[in-house]
Amino acid sequence: MEIKRAAKYGFCFGVKRAIRLAEQNKNAISIGPLIHNQKEIDRLKFNFGVNVKTDINNIDNNTSVIIRTHGIQKDDFKKLKNSNINIVDATCPFVKKPQQICEEMSKEGYEIIIFGDENHPEVKGVASYCTTPFQVILNKKDIKNINNNSKIALISQTTKNIHHFLEVANHLITICPEVRVFNTICNATFENQEAAKILAQEVDILIVVGGKNSSNTKQLLNISLQYCKDSYCIEDETELQKKWFDGKKVCGITAGASTPDWIIDKVESKIREF
Ligand code: SF4
Repeated sequence: MEIKRAAKYGFCFGVKRAIRLAEQNKNAISIGPLIHNQKEIDRLKFNFGVNVKTDINNIDNNTSVIIRTHGIQKDDFKKLKNSNINIVDATCPFVKKPQQICEEMSKEGYEIIIFGDENHPEVKGVASYCTTPFQVILNKKDIKNINNNSKIALISQTTKNIHHFLEVANHLITICPEVRVFNTICNATFENQEAAKILAQEVDILIVVGGKNSSNTKQLLNISLQYCKDSYCIEDETELQKKWFDGKKVCGITAGASTPDWIIDKVESKIREF
C-alpha cells in the first residue's frame, strides 16, 4: 500500500510560535491548554515545566503566564496585566486581528456578527472585545434582530470554512443596507483544508491525525469524508485499526494544526507495520 501525506498538514505558524514561547519560558503557567493536543501539552509539562491552569485567579506573582493561541477574554487579560504577573502573549496574530476588528467596529457603532462556535475559547475571547450588540452564528438561519437600519460587521472564527462564511456574507448583503465583511479565516487552516480535499480524491483511506477537541481537525475530517468515505480521525497511532486497511491501495495522511510531527511520524510507522 502506498502512503501519501497531504501537501500541507499539521502545525501552523501560530502553534509553532506558542510552543517556541513555552519552551523559552520554563515553568510558566498556561491559561487553558496551550494547544489542542494533550500529548504535546504533556511533553511541554515534562520537559519544560509548563503547567495548565483554567483559572486566572490564585496565580502567584512573579510567575510567567502564557496566553494560548486562541487568546483569552479581554477582562481576564486586563486582570493579569494589572498584577505583577509576567505575560507571555502567545495569542496568534490571526486571532488578535478579529479581536481588534470587534473593538474598532464597535467604536464605529457597528453590530457584530461572529461566524463561529459560541462555546469555542477563541470566539469567547473575540466576542469579549465587542462593546456593541453582537451575535455568534453557525449559519444564516441563526441571524436575528437585523433591521433595515442595521450596520453590520461580519467576522469569522479563524478555523471556519470559507464557503460557508461566504454564504452568510451573501445573505447579510441582501438583508442589510451596510455590511462590512472581514475575512478573518486563517490561511494555515485553509491551506490544510485544500490539501486534504485534493488528497482525499487520490486515496482510498485517509487518516486525519488530531486532537478530539480540535475544531480544525474536525473540519479536516468533514472535508475528507466528502471525497473519501473511509476517512478516520485519530489522536495517535494506538487508535489505528488494522482492518481499516484491508484491500486498500493508497492511504493518505493529514493532520490538524495542533498535531506535532513526532505523532504523525509514529502514525505513519504503524501503518507501514500493518
Ligand atoms: S490555525 Fe491559524 S489562527 Fe489558529 S493558531 Fe494556527 S495560524 Fe493561528
